[in-house]
Amino acid sequence: MIDNACEWGEAAFLIFSDNVGTLIYYTHIFPLVISLFLGFQVFINNPKQRSNRVLFALTLLFSVWVYFDLILWASPTPELVMFFWSAIVPVEILMYLCALYLVYLFTNNQKDIKIRYKYLFALILLPVVLFGHTSLNVMGLSPDCDTGAFEGILIQYMYFIEVVIIAIAAYLSVRGYLKEKDIFNKKRILFIGGATVVFLSFFTIGNLTLSFSLGPYYEQYKLFGMPLFAAMVAYTIVIFGAFRTKVLLAEVLISALWILVFSTLLFRDISNARPIIFATLVVFAFLGIILSKTIRKEIEQREEIQMLANKLEKANARLQQMDKLKSEFVSIASHQLRSPITAISGYASLISEGSYGEVPSKMKEPIDRIVQSSRMMATSIEDYLNVSRIEAGNMKYNYEDFNLATEAEHISDDLRPEALHQGLVLLFRKRVESQATVHADLGKVQQIIHNLINNAIKYTPKGAITVYVHDDVLAKRIYIDIIDTGIGMNEDTLHSIFQKFERGDKANTVNVKGTGLGLYVALKMAEAMGGSITPHSDGEGKGSRFTVELPLII
Ligand code: ADP
Repeated sequence: MIDNACEWGEAAFLIFSDNVGTLIYYTHIFPLVISLFLGFQVFINNPKQRSNRVLFALTLLFSVWVYFDLILWASPTPELVMFFWSAIVPVEILMYLCALYLVYLFTNNQKDIKIRYKYLFALILLPVVLFGHTSLNVMGLSPDCDTGAFEGILIQYMYFIEVVIIAIAAYLSVRGYLKEKDIFNKKRILFIGGATVVFLSFFTIGNLTLSFSLGPYYEQYKLFGMPLFAAMVAYTIVIFGAFRTKVLLAEVLISALWILVFSTLLFRDISNARPIIFATLVVFAFLGIILSKTIRKEIEQREEIQMLANKLEKANARLQQMDKLKSEFVSIASHQLRSPITAISGYASLISEGSYGEVPSKMKEPIDRIVQSSRMMATSIEDYLNVSRIEAGNMKYNYEDFNLATEAEHISDDLRPEALHQGLVLLFRKRVESQATVHADLGKVQQIIHNLINNAIKYTPKGAITVYVHDDVLAKRIYIDIIDTGIGMNEDTLHSIFQKFERGDKANTVNVKGTGLGLYVALKMAEAMGGSITPHSDGEGKGSRFTVELPLII
């Protein structure tokens, strides 16, 4: 058990004691909280960035330093004071090295320092680690309990290292600033380099005033380098996006205000605190100006965005109107075309079938061409009409109950001759456990199946087409698979075929005719009736399968 060497009592948490004036707590706790706040914010926002980690380490070391220093002020136990006085030396050197590391990162494009410099850093620390506990560091305490200490050679060494580090940091900053071309990076280097040099200089000047025996009270102001540093770093983050983080200036300002209000509660004698409050005011004035500038800028930007949004909305409305006009135009034009083309197609078929007498052999081919082309044209017109109906929301659905398997079989029978004509086999199979009844628009369902089988015929040069109806009673769904051995589809095609006017890469090589609208229309119709269409293919040349799915009535 060690007796108290001084007349005041034990310190709570090692740092709270009657002997220590409020000024000391203010000069210590205010920078400590500011520094921890900044370090945490930057670290949490982007922990992967090296400079953020280094800044965090720097603020942590600073906080440890401040805590140790408070112990020196508050503790009456000589052994404790001796221990922390010695321990503060490596912490201080490490803090300076960290600050230098930070400046290096900013002036070298965030590149890590070379390994040999890291060894050099370790070498600089070595003497204080090895001899920190000896009388080379702190020789002893003054007996009159003012917590003064007799400094050994290691402390002189520390001051020397500090001055050298400040000089290097200043040199790196100036060189980096001059070398950098990008104006944003230039400003970042200026502010971070400047902030670090200011912080370290405050500290070292404070140390030296103590050594030159100007009294411990002046020394306290050295810690105000930290709030200044924090303010400059916050400014650089907000204005120049340093540390790739978004510390809101308002957050910094409000927390700082909170700390100020809280700390004034600690004052017993206000006159003693006047210079400190003044210093704090300067920091706030500085932060306040930046804050209002940033907010003004943000408001301007927001107004600009709002204006652009209004313009966009108007343009969008006009576009929608034009789109509607276009759909109406297509619809009218298609209607006008539909009747004549139906007439041409119908009469040409009759002529070709010989209804108006024997067709001279020379005319057979041209008439067949007229039949084919006019049919093609009629389908295209029907597709355009359907698209314009779907887009205008005018597609009408007349629901009724019917047997889907029977319908699919009929359509397969109808199309079999055409498939045979192309040299293809068209098979129909079914395996249904239910009545295969669906509640849907018969005409539309027929159109979908017709379209898919037609596509299978179009895109299958040789082989077979299978139409397979099956159901899932539990899930209340019925499926029609249209399977072919044709050109198949690659991944890209599979993803795009349901879009308007989209045709597969290989589609033209097999079948030049086509609008790229059939599947779009078929899918929209199936979806409107509570169903879907899913394409599948193992790849080009490996055939395709289209599955139509509809709700089943049980
Ligand atoms: P179109 O047949 O008029 O080009 P669709 O919308 O019916 O338009 O089909 C879009 C595209 O989907 C086709 O161009 C083709 O590339 C692809 N496709 C459709 N059915 C098949 C199929 N059975 N086999 C291979 N590709 C197909």
